[in-house]
Amino acid sequence: MGILIKGKPVADKITEDVKSEVRNLNSSGIQPKLQIIRVGEREDDIAYERGALKRMAKCGILTGVKTLPIDISQDDFIEQIKLSNSDETVHGILIFRPLPKQLDESIIKYIVDPNKDIDCFNPVNVAKVTEGDKTGFAPCTPSAVMEILDYYDVDLTGKNVVVLGRSMVVGKPQALLMLQKNATVTICHSKTKNLSEVASKADVLVAAIGKAKLVLKEFVKEDAVVIDVGINVDDEGKLCGDVRTDECLEIASMVTPVPAGVGSVTTSVLAKHVVRACKSLIK
Ligand code: NAD
Repeated sequence: MGILIKGKPVADKITEDVKSEVRNLNSSGIQPKLQIIRVGEREDDIAYERGALKRMAKCGILTGVKTLPIDISQDDFIEQIKLSNSDETVHGILIFRPLPKQLDESIIKYIVDPNKDIDCFNPVNVAKVTEGDKTGFAPCTPSAVMEILDYYDVDLTGKNVVVLGRSMVVGKPQALLMLQKNATVTICHSKTKNLSEVASKADVLVAAIGKAKLVLKEFVKEDAVVIDVGINVDDEGKLCGDVRTDECLEIASMVTPVPAGVGSVTTSVLAKHVVRACKSLIK
């Protein structure tokens, strides 16, 4: 029987480290600040924003939230991003995605200053993450997974890692971060054949699909580590991940729960990135 590995101790540890860095910056008269840019009133965005604001307050990081109308024009939206780019009191910018249809992400992603782009929207950061350039910002969620693996002493060198999902926010950057830790990585997606067979070769299995409880115990190798990134609602209206946690725990050595797993670490990574951006911007 495996153990549930929770996100809270990981988040607490990161928060403590960030707090002490913020105190050091404060003593030199510097106040790190995160600017959130939200278009519209999507429930998911607002829930994440609430968590992020709470975490920033805990860390001593200042915040600002720009809430923009759902029908904002592309030019006005770009203008708002540029204002935050040039605002010297702002060190990190988080833009909620997906954006409404009238806003062309393929243009907008180039506008946010890569040095303030703490959640890997700008392709400059995507390229840096691909190259393994440590000055880049990987997206917060896959970074949170790496923090969890590190905290629970899961060494990835030479391990078979299977990532389920290939999105730009989770799956792809996750695979690259695993590769940088010397894992042998397989990426699966909606067209992958024999998903359970491929997954069951993994020493570390990361599920980032967005399908409630799709990962059964047949997907899991004996003593594997299973990381559940999915956030879904089950038939009873309860929050759940992509993994059937209880049955996978019978086979795996460790499984992250949902809720209280990866999601609870993401905002502390966001705080860590804001402080890192601040330190490099003031150099
Ligand atoms: P997405 O919809 O952009 O991507 C889903 C990926 O899963 C795609 O690459 C697709 O090919 C793959 N996929 C879909 N069905 C599949 C199937 N049957 N078999 C194999 N692969 C399949 O989603 P996303 O933004 O990458 O998010 C994935 C999940 O992670 C969602 O549940 C989302 O809510 C959650 N999420 C959690 C956090 C967090 O902080 N914990 C952050 C972001 C996303």
